[in-house]
Amino acid sequence: MEGDYIARRLEISGIVQGVGFRPFVYRLAAETGIKGEVANTSSGVSVIIEGGRCEIDSFCSSILHGPPLAQITGMSIHNETVKGYDSFCIAGSRKNSDRSTLISPDISVCGDCIREMSNPDDRRHNYPFINCTNCGPRYSIIADLPYDRPNTSMKGFRMCNECQKEFDDPANRRFHAQPNACPRCGPGIKLYDNNSEVPGDAIEAAASLLKKGHIIALKGIGGFHLAVDAENSRAVMLLRQRKHREERPFALMSYSLKDIQRFAFATPEGEALLKSAQRPVVILEKRNPNSIAQGVSPSNNTLGVMLPYTPLHYLLLRHGFTALVMTSANISNEPIVISNEEAFKRLAGIADYFLVHDRDIYNRSDDSVIRPVAGAARFIRRSRGYVPTPVFLRQDVPRMLACGAELKNTFCLTKGNKAFLSQHIGDLENAPTYDFFTSSIEQMKKLLDITPDIIVCDQHPNYLSSTYAQSQQGIRKVHVQHHHAHIVSCMAENTLEGKIIGLAFDGLGYGTDGAMWGGEVLIADERSFIRKAHLAYAPMPGGAVAIREPWRMAISYLYRTFGRDLFGLDLPLLKEIDEKRLNIIIQTITNKVNTPNTSSLGRLFDGIAAIIGLRNTVSYEGQAAMELETICKDTRESYDYKWSNGETFNVLLEPIISGVVQDVTKGADPSIISRKFHNTLITLFTEICEEVRTETGLNRVAMSGGVFQNAIILKGLIQALSEKGFHVFTHRLVPTNDGGICLGQAVIAAQMHWDR
Ligand code: ZN
Ligand code: ZN
Ligand code: FE
Repeated sequence: MEGDYIARRLEISGIVQGVGFRPFVYRLAAETGIKGEVANTSSGVSVIIEGGRCEIDSFCSSILHGPPLAQITGMSIHNETVKGYDSFCIAGSRKNSDRSTLISPDISVCGDCIREMSNPDDRRHNYPFINCTNCGPRYSIIADLPYDRPNTSMKGFRMCNECQKEFDDPANRRFHAQPNACPRCGPGIKLYDNNSEVPGDAIEAAASLLKKGHIIALKGIGGFHLAVDAENSRAVMLLRQRKHREERPFALMSYSLKDIQRFAFATPEGEALLKSAQRPVVILEKRNPNSIAQGVSPSNNTLGVMLPYTPLHYLLLRHGFTALVMTSANISNEPIVISNEEAFKRLAGIADYFLVHDRDIYNRSDDSVIRPVAGAARFIRRSRGYVPTPVFLRQDVPRMLACGAELKNTFCLTKGNKAFLSQHIGDLENAPTYDFFTSSIEQMKKLLDITPDIIVCDQHPNYLSSTYAQSQQGIRKVHVQHHHAHIVSCMAENTLEGKIIGLAFDGLGYGTDGAMWGGEVLIADERSFIRKAHLAYAPMPGGAVAIREPWRMAISYLYRTFGRDLFGLDLPLLKEIDEKRLNIIIQTITNKVNTPNTSSLGRLFDGIAAIIGLRNTVSYEGQAAMELETICKDTRESYDYKWSNGETFNVLLEPIISGVVQDVTKGADPSIISRKFHNTLITLFTEICEEVRTETGLNRVAMSGGVFQNAIILKGLIQALSEKGFHVFTHRLVPTNDGGICLGQAVIAAQMHWDR
């Protein structure tokens, strides 16, 4: 029937370019007999379709499924007059087409490519750089827009005839796959020792060297890894020694889920994350006993594991390893190494061999790390595979650069309703990381075509990210309080507005009174906050040194609770530290020399760990807290707690500290003491929330800050607060630690801008 032949125009936005969207539409049209055309535009993809009403309807619903890598954020349907197309075609890109569309993150090799790679008759058999529009490197190889081969690190590789044919064929899986390559025309792989190339098959040789216990530096997607056989204790310890990395867990990579299940428990959520196209490191519970070297993740009941995400990983891991250690190749907290020259030079004292290739990495990115807790993925680090996918905000905001915090730094650029968080930058304490921070800002501004009008930073005067912001000329600057940013970050990813109760628990953040905060209950919205409750201040003897030396916090809490009577306590800690040293610390506290006050919950965890006798020093921040969580055994008991009422509730530490000390002196099991401490915090803060609700009528709680990486605290508070009828909001899209703070900074700055 004539009248049923209609025309429509679809405008689709989101990640729809460079992900095989047009060939997908082309094939869909062919299947449904639809005529018309598809084109890339400045805001996404535009499709004109003509056909019967039914076919048009089913086309419109099928298109929403998209190809695997697409992320559709919006589709509008418009009526058109029938022009009488006689086929369906892919039209040339419209002018300036790629500028404001979203760049795809790097994506793990797809099933089709793996099948081709394993087929001896395929021309890409065993080729470590096989890819297609559904998979392969993206963000890591882009230098500039538009996303075309000359703007990627594939620019030096000229496609052979066969590759070019695939690239030009709309029906082919490699249509416009910019990194398309084959053994004849694409990148290649080589193995070197510290002097020269090792002859023979590079991957076979690398595998047998790993079996013999050697350390191999291996070039990946976002940087180099250092690899050793994870079942070889000697090799693992050697890697620790050479990397000067004492205890922080190493990540693992296994060929298959079946291999992983031999040494770890993969819950359904964990399994889905492992198999996802982003291929993050997933934190799983250890299965005991297991064959993985003890040194991979000492004093910890979890392992960080991932599945292979490049063809090269598959080719290497199929040689019968249960798992390889795959840790970022860097030196003492500097950024991960990305170039071959750098690897040869800087990793010479660590790696025995170098498995390198000639496809350059332009945008460095570490592996992402996720822990599934309470039914959701919780980012510990959001980087490769996720960056630069934006977080969508509830409304448009000005163009801004939010500089993040100091440790685990990420920054964020905003445009419209999108917040683009950077890859993991790291701890801005060394010059190379700071350079990575500033160069990534410039790079992302270019790739996302964003010139910010506002620059946002933390209120901490000494954060390098803050001094960077301060030094920028001719741009409006906004300073945001650390814990306010934490809470609003959680609100932003949950698209919340209005007042909320915020639990901000972390290591340290600069408070409006100059003290170091970190155990805070705020009443906050996107505009401002009131500090409703906090842990009582405790002196931090020696300042930052106390982070590395939790025993100092222990003395601080003990002195506060017992005064000089602490010398009479029967605690293992006090026997380990000689009296002279104890007296010096107490003097530091009483004289207030280099001893800032802190309300940090992270520090309280540290102090408790030392009082229990778990450890007096740590080799990385949060280690003591992690071990406290690790040792927990089930009990419902808890310690007494108390807060002083008033305008601001002051949570007293004495009842908790004396409860713990009493248990330790009685010889109670540290696992029980630890659990009682966790329980205390859960009950205590749930009660405070109830009291705040009574006072204010607020019923929503947002939780943010590094302490929520602790699964017992996170799960416990979600459950306890939900039981009391609260709506609880947590992080699922960005890290709860300082790696997520830039998002909140941006949203607060937008609000301040409008309020002006
Ligand atoms: Zn593929
Ligand atoms: Zn080729
Ligand atoms: Fe923080």
